[in-house]
Amino acid sequence: MTATPLSGKELAAAIRADTAAEAAALTAAGTPPKLAVVVATADESSAWYVRSIARAAAKAGIGCDIVDLGEHAAPGAIRAKLAELSADAGVHGIILQTPLPDGAALEELAGAIAFEKDVDGANPLSLGRLAAGLPAFAPATAEAVVRVLDHHRVELTGRHIAVVGRSNVVGKPAAHLLLDQNATVTVCHSRTKDLAAVTSAADVVVAAVGRANLLGAEHVRAGAVVVDVGTNPTEDGGLTGDVDAASVAERAGALTPVPGGVGPVTTALLLQHTVRAAAGTS
Ligand code: NAP
Repeated sequence: MTATPLSGKELAAAIRADTAAEAAALTAAGTPPKLAVVVATADESSAWYVRSIARAAAKAGIGCDIVDLGEHAAPGAIRAKLAELSADAGVHGIILQTPLPDGAALEELAGAIAFEKDVDGANPLSLGRLAAGLPAFAPATAEAVVRVLDHHRVELTGRHIAVVGRSNVVGKPAAHLLLDQNATVTVCHSRTKDLAAVTSAADVVVAAVGRANLLGAEHVRAGAVVVDVGTNPTEDGGLTGDVDAASVAERAGALTPVPGGVGPVTTALLLQHTVRAAAGTS
């Protein structure tokens, strides 16, 4: 068997087109949407990601301010900047980029992002509301997982989904969103015993670990659907997923590629959330 590739590119293009149209309408009505990305790191892959957001925002007609506080920024300075941007009526979406300097924790600082501008669902209030089934912006990556599955018409109701990873930005919110789709969800992590036994019992496996090629064919049931969220840098400057695509593609029924799967949809959703946040204030 060779797994069907579940591309995110077409879905991302459709979201970007809708978003650009909404951004143009908002701008014409006097509310040009704007995203602020707060950075406090010299990490090169983070810089690459921020540049890609800025490029995509420009193409969609969305303003994008990169607020670089430097890699030694104190937590108090980051919190103060987030509060300032939260109070700025010209800014509609705020992202706090990771990694953060030592001593600064995303979960603590993101509480300073106004809930209605929290377009990447980093404020614990957003995660709590998501868990309670209340309206909130979901972290874009977690939402992208569900949107890619929906786009490719993968049935989720009643199916067993194993999510590998329990971070607040991907694994946990993805689990909540999949529960909302009536899936039966098992969340795995570094202390899970016999990971392969758990994941190979699932109809759908979502890998959000951050370890290149951690999941191999032994982790996947024949014909299962596999979503690879991992974006691990390779020595040649490329990206590789958390799934060993070569072996898993021989066993799975469908597999998201890296790059070109969840990633492009994530960026598109961040911009869509920004436009929605701007529409809420116009
Ligand atoms: P993270 O905060 O480091 O969390 C990793 C999770 O994986 C943790 O819950 C950890 O368990 C678990 N884990 C680590 N080793 C494991 C093992 N051997 N077996 C089972 N579970 C294990 O990472 P993250 O921020 O969620 O990101 C996950 C991946 O998604 C990364 O590759 C990241 O680059 C990628 N990502 C992609 C996008 C995108 O747009 N495509 C966006 C964001 C992130 P413990 O909790 O027990 O430590």
